[in-house]
Amino acid sequence: MNYRHAYHAGNFADVVKHAVMAQILQRLLAKPAPLLVLDAFAGIGLYNLAGVEAQKTGEAARGIQRIWPPPPASGALGQGLAPYLEVVRALNPRGPLALYPGSPELALRMLRPQDRLALVELHPDDCAQLRRNYARDPRVEVHQRDGFEALPALLPPKERRGLVLVDPPYEQPDEAARLVKSLGRAYRRWPTGVYALWYPIKERGPAEALLEAMRAVIPRRLLVAELTVFAQEQAFRLNGCGLALVNPPWQLDQALGELLARLQPLLAQEGGGHRVEWLVGEGTPDHEP
Ligand code: SAM
Repeated sequence: MNYRHAYHAGNFADVVKHAVMAQILQRLLAKPAPLLVLDAFAGIGLYNLAGVEAQKTGEAARGIQRIWPPPPASGALGQGLAPYLEVVRALNPRGPLALYPGSPELALRMLRPQDRLALVELHPDDCAQLRRNYARDPRVEVHQRDGFEALPALLPPKERRGLVLVDPPYEQPDEAARLVKSLGRAYRRWPTGVYALWYPIKERGPAEALLEAMRAVIPRRLLVAELTVFAQEQAFRLNGCGLALVNPPWQLDQALGELLARLQPLLAQEGGGHRVEWLVGEGTPDHEP
């Protein structure tokens, strides 16, 4: 396990993933019933952008720092970014960006007292950090275990509503296959959950192959939202990223179309684009998570 998210915190892929995640949570939180967020590859939760790791790569300069501070005119970046930027603002109340919320911090700052956050992280140091950061919060449980195995094992939740975030590092050659197998098992155990699976876009082929494999295990309501920051695909760099969304909340497709259209020119490095597309049809309209 070489991957440490501290080197990448706040990069363009984090901005896309976290802005989409905040949009999903905002919609799920519109109903009073409790919900579970299961973050199966959690990282450490909170990142210091002045730290050695973040400074070494400077990735946040081409990510969150492109949209921070947000323009003073309210809504200039679009309403879609608001729930995400509110969390970034709460962490950096004086203005300049020092701390960046990972997915656990983002979730926890949006969740209510009746909700629950389950965090899974395999790396011993990162998991210990997660525990130091969050274990005192009664809404949080932290598991040091394999996320692919934990996914089906921790589902379905007693709340019967919620979001499952699947954000592996894709550093092992078999990770995509493990992800699809684990997603299939999780979905069979909990077919009404909302799932968000992040994937990298380096060359188009492997990303398409991953989506094709997901299609085989998700029989309905699979939406993809992608953003690329380079026009040319190259195998050695992250040209873009996507989220495969199972059972997305009602009208999220429309909201993400607007969100990504706003974000793309701000995050672009050399062209690129975005797409929001149903891979497997909407399904029955009464199936609202
Ligand atoms: N979701 C986090 C966020 O948005 O702030 C970032 C997660 S980072 C991309 C992936 C994390 O997965 C790393 O912290 C890594 O240590 C962890 N990891 C790698 N393999 C794992 C496995 N098999 N099970 C659980 N965690 C794993």
